[in-house]
Amino acid sequence: MAQTIGFIGLGNMGGPMAANLAAAGHRVQGFDLVPASLEAAHAAGIAVVGSAADAAQGADVVVTMLPAGRHVIEVWSGLCESVPAGTLLIDSSTVDVESARRAHALAEARGCLSVDAPVSGGTGGAKAGTLTFMAGGADAAFARAEPILRQMGKAVFHCGAAGAGQAAKICNNMILGISMIGVCEAFALGEKLGLSRQALFDVASVSSGQCWSLTTYCPVPGPVPTSPANNDYRPGFAAALMLKDLRLAQAAAATAGAATPLGAEAAQLYALFDALGHGGEDFSGIIRMLRGTDAGDAGR
Ligand code: NAD
Repeated sequence: MAQTIGFIGLGNMGGPMAANLAAAGHRVQGFDLVPASLEAAHAAGIAVVGSAADAAQGADVVVTMLPAGRHVIEVWSGLCESVPAGTLLIDSSTVDVESARRAHALAEARGCLSVDAPVSGGTGGAKAGTLTFMAGGADAAFARAEPILRQMGKAVFHCGAAGAGQAAKICNNMILGISMIGVCEAFALGEKLGLSRQALFDVASVSSGQCWSLTTYCPVPGPVPTSPANNDYRPGFAAALMLKDLRLAQAAAATAGAATPLGAEAAQLYALFDALGHGGEDFSGIIRMLRGTDAGDAGR
């Protein structure tokens, strides 16, 4: 059923996500602070408006896709002064669990339904409509959000109550950051031992070292032709975004009292990689820092 959807934050992810909702037949009212994003949205069939409040005007659903928790709290605080009770608010940004729960509380106080629904799949998934959504919120809110999320993604999981979507996202990405460093260290060691990359890949990809960082996103050129290592580590998933997610995991671990020593180490290594000027490279490029040289990239 076609609905009126407010979409706030039309950047690298939000722009194509909003475009997919418009292509699915919804009336999408979009707002962003950046004029270039508004122009691109207009070209994609989105009705461009002049403020977040205007985007929410008459909307059944409002989606936000913003950089961080403070932006979400600022925008949702404004929305929760104007939207009618019963409006569904969905935040798909990646934010800290505390901010996600605060946003839900703002919505509840207004009599609105709310879902935190961060994504994985990156800009390619946003364009193709193949994102994975991890949702948190009450059953009634999720039931209304799910059909909308399915028009932007291929998989939608209800992970639990308020904040559970963000919790799932940062736990998954902490596994990813740690496993990528582990795979990189194994290739760096193998190279020093004179082991060919292909031989290590052939063994580990069908043995107990098997994982996504190895078999889908192999951090050395050759074994997996589609991985960013074959494209001079152009992202893909930028190291700066991995660092953001690892820091969110560390903040959550500190608040919850969970011991995550490898998550802490991964966050430090990605912070160093970022400080050395590599934040815009793919996160698998950290192998070059771990090796201490780019020389191994000539291929073996
Ligand atoms: P982006 O910076 O391209 O887009 C964010 C947009 O929000 C910008 O266009 C900005 O102008 C807008 N904005 C900020 N404050 C605003 C306000 N008050 N009102 C209206 N618009 C405002 O970032 P992105 O890559 O689209 O990422 C968005 C979110 O998705 C982030 O939380 C990010 O961590 C997460 N995410 C990104 C990726 C990715 O690959 N890019 C993957 C998964 C999750």
